[in-house]
Amino acid sequence: MGGRMANGEWRMANGGWRFADLPICEWRFAICDCADGVVYDVRGLVKVYPGQTRPANQAITLQVYQGEIFGMLGENGAGKSTLVRQMVNLLRPTFGSIELFGQPVGQDPLYVPLHVGYMPQEPHALNNLSVGEALFFTAHLREMSRAEAGRERDALLHVWQMQELRHRYSPRLSGGQRRLLRLAVAMVGSPPVLILDEPTNDLDPQRRRLVWDVLRRLNHERGTTIIFITHDAIEAEKIIQRVGIMHDGRLVAVGQPGELKQHVDQKLRLELFFSPEAPPGLPPGTNCRPLEPGRWLVFLERDQVMAVLNGLNLERIEDFRLQSATLEDLYLHYAAQL
Ligand code: ADP
Repeated sequence: MGGRMANGEWRMANGGWRFADLPICEWRFAICDCADGVVYDVRGLVKVYPGQTRPANQAITLQVYQGEIFGMLGENGAGKSTLVRQMVNLLRPTFGSIELFGQPVGQDPLYVPLHVGYMPQEPHALNNLSVGEALFFTAHLREMSRAEAGRERDALLHVWQMQELRHRYSPRLSGGQRRLLRLAVAMVGSPPVLILDEPTNDLDPQRRRLVWDVLRRLNHERGTTIIFITHDAIEAEKIIQRVGIMHDGRLVAVGQPGELKQHVDQKLRLELFFSPEAPPGLPPGTNCRPLEPGRWLVFLERDQVMAVLNGLNLERIEDFRLQSATLEDLYLHYAAQL
């Protein structure tokens, strides 16, 4: 068990914390149980913006299931934001349908806000509020009493390590601090679904780690369904359970990262760093790609790895890294196929 200290901060047992120990309110609106476990059911979605001929989304069909962490990858302009903006009813589809917990999203304007916490790419109107006020008023708008809203604000300030920023007005926050505030605002009231457009963009490594840690806990401890767009494929891989890869308006692959990788490439990547004047020796016929002076990428079959590692002259190697195909490799593979 944890407790509240004199300075108002929450201290949890084991030096860590759990959502269960924080006085965060339960989501009070939604009837979110879906018999078939489908949260979002997107079918045959097409979006053509006014004045454009090329669709920004083409024939997208996708199901997102209750309690999963679903990541969307793709290059700039692939159509990811267009897809999520239709999923949260900010854009109307040209063709196709989107259901959330079995209800069409466009039918009732209040339906999506009552089920989904959405963090858009562009900042929303927090400009004249302090950090604490933004959280408090959002909680109030989500029908919490003043006392509950105060507790919710304090708990989220704790989760996002922003206690000392409570009285700071949002124009005076750094880009990274503002992004954390927008994440916190999306989370107010613990909605059953979170949709986050680039949650870690512009964040330093420490804050990125905090974001992935909070999202993982939220999913694990509260069963929150999390859908997010990211460019940060390598880091996102640590929490993504299923991934959708978008390219040129289409959803070109959907699946668990491990499954998709099996279709792509079973080779391991051995990255070697060494002094450019003294390259290491490799067995003849090894598939090696120089990346820059003093850095090679070697592709190895799994049964080659031990022999190559044993044969390396370690005195000539400054550093090395061994890994399987990453989500980034997957994305490049599917984009290159089309
Ligand atoms: P992503 O989120 O993957 O970067 P977007 O969904 O933002 O991609 O954009 C997909 C395509 O739609 C791009 O070609 C973009 O220029 C175009 N687009 C996005 N928003 C608009 C808009 N409001 N009007 C016209 N075209 C748009």
